[in-house]
Amino acid sequence: MACILIIASIPVARIQAPEIDAFLPAVCGVAVFAELLTAFLLWNQYRASGDAPIAVLALAYAGSALLGIEYVLTFPHAFAEHFLGAGPQTTAWLYLIGQVFFASYIILFALWEPLCRRVSTFASGNGVPMLAAITILIPLVALLVTVGYSDDLPAALGGTHTTPLWQGRIVPLLLAYQVAACVILVVVTRLRTVVHLWLAVVVVVSLSEALLSNVISGARFTLGWYLGRAEWLVVASLFLIVLLGSVYRILLTLSSTNAALYRQSVSDDLTGLLNRRGFNARLEEELRRAQRRNEAVALLVIDIDDFKRYNDSYGHPAGDTALGIVSRVIKTTLRRAADCGARIGGEEFAVLLPETGDSGAAAVAERIRRGVERVGILQGVGARHGVLTVSIGLASTEERPAQDGLDLMRRSDRALYQAKSEGRNCIRVQGAPRIHVGESSLTG
Ligand code: GH3
Ligand code: MG
Ligand code: MG
Repeated sequence: MACILIIASIPVARIQAPEIDAFLPAVCGVAVFAELLTAFLLWNQYRASGDAPIAVLALAYAGSALLGIEYVLTFPHAFAEHFLGAGPQTTAWLYLIGQVFFASYIILFALWEPLCRRVSTFASGNGVPMLAAITILIPLVALLVTVGYSDDLPAALGGTHTTPLWQGRIVPLLLAYQVAACVILVVVTRLRTVVHLWLAVVVVVSLSEALLSNVISGARFTLGWYLGRAEWLVVASLFLIVLLGSVYRILLTLSSTNAALYRQSVSDDLTGLLNRRGFNARLEEELRRAQRRNEAVALLVIDIDDFKRYNDSYGHPAGDTALGIVSRVIKTTLRRAADCGARIGGEEFAVLLPETGDSGAAAVAERIRRGVERVGILQGVGARHGVLTVSIGLASTEERPAQDGLDLMRRSDRALYQAKSEGRNCIRVQGAPRIHVGESSLTG
């Protein structure tokens, strides 16, 4: 793509265009912002992972942004004729230093791990802080030297015209250095990851920008030079786009993992129903909703009768299977989408029935009691009934509002206790000692 752009621009690259003073500050502003943001994201990635080469990359972008700021500030007429006392060679040298700086850090990024194995300073973990200090110093020293010795510096990029460079050695050396950076990056990293691949693309675009701006265009404010600055923008923001894409993917993965973890934390492994934690949350939620709408909520607490005896007779695995069967009866009995079943203890279940009063809830409870009885799971020796049965305690907010979930749960529990003490395999309703629902026809 970069090659096609260069070849396509050759016929028009030397055409002189109008001098737009605002162009460079605008382009540089965006490029510097993109580079600083890239550096920030990479540095945070380094802090999270401890991966030192990522820190090198962050520093490459940070230093490049600082040099970019100096470049645009000292560019003649961008802000002032001689901003900060810059001379004719200042901007050209800062451009050159910026290019060499970025290519050097790319080489350092690629060679960091082999360097760590050989150089003790890098291996001891002091490499990154040292490099950070150097990264701040380089733009400072570069500015002091290029401004202070501007008149004495050799013609770096030939002032406003880049043509002399083609005849000189600096541009060929710069291009060769960038090619070397690209080759080292490709050979050492073998483009193993997306980061390596896109970095290689960034270096190639940077190389093509140097070629376009300094060789093909021939002078500042030609079409080629403008195109070169636009490519600079690509160099500065390409990696940021890649990083933002990966951050977005990480966020998606995190949110779906989070949702899966939450589902896992509120569901019961054995039966697939909600567990106690999930049920409590749901109960509070439904109670609040019902209070707002002035509706009734009913709660059933269901306990398998003589389950210890069943386990003792057939073993725990058979007991688990029986728990699964009872949970299926509960699931199939609940017809409304808002109804919700849960396993809140070993052989204890709960059912929440929004918009339901005592009589409606008693009908659902009876369907569950009869459903379990009809499955006909043979009980163990010495149990009160021949098949596995359940006792159910019922409470609702129809007659008496509940303070909270715990209050309603206590009332259902009391009703369950009553069902247990009055023979089991039956349903008892809170505060209604004479309403006995679902008396079994079984005699034991
Ligand atoms: P009651 O009619 O009074 O409820 O008698 P029960 O035997 O059902 O009640 P108890 O509280 O004495 O015993 C409950 C039994 O439930 C004890 C334990 O063996 C069994 N149990 C609890 N959790 C599990 C489980 O996850 N799997 C299996 N297989 N059994 C369990
Ligand atoms: Mg029991
Ligand atoms: Mg129990």
